[in-house]
Amino acid sequence: KEKSEFDIQKILKNSLSITAASYKDRNIDVLTNFKEDINITFGFPNELSQVFLNILSNAKDAFTNNKIKTPQVTINIFEKDAYNIIEIIDNAGGIDIKNIEKIFDPYFTTKHQTQGTGIGLYMSKEIIQKHMNGLLNVENRIITVNNTTYKGACFTILLPKL
Ligand code: ADP
Ligand code: MG
Repeated sequence: KEKSEFDIQKILKNSLSITAASYKDRNIDVLTNFKEDINITFGFPNELSQVFLNILSNAKDAFTNNKIKTPQVTINIFEKDAYNIIEIIDNAGGIDIKNIEKIFDPYFTTKHQTQGTGIGLYMSKEIIQKHMNGLLNVENRIITVNNTTYKGACFTILLPKL
């Protein structure tokens, strides 16, 4: 399968339209800081949408588990150096500090086995890795997570800028 050129914002918007109904059910507000123009990258659009869908679905699960009153997901996209950077930020409580090093490991999950298999973020990392192949010195920050001061998780993804 060959890589192709595509617009990341378009994939993000499509992923948001897929999750819209389940987000609306749970009163999750989505805030997008998209740009006027497009963000072209080079890779596998269908696989990238799996990455966004998993992160959006993880946020939804975190809101459900923590019963947040004003659930909100913020999505930022911007360019920096040779990369497109996507941030997906929630206010669902963040990731337990004892788990934060493990969440990209295969089969790591804190969910009941009927709800989670723990391969979502592992697969996501593999997919972003394929997009970033050959780009130097970024192995450890192609997809990262940190807890925010607003009591939530922030996932940051790097993709090549065309
Ligand atoms: P799964 O969703 O099947 O559990 P993932 O690989 O997608 O597997 O996620 C692994 C784990 O990372 C989750 O079980 C959860 O503990 C943690 N996690 C992921 N996203 C979030 C989030 N937005 N807030 C809190 N915890 C999260
Ligand atoms: Mg998941």
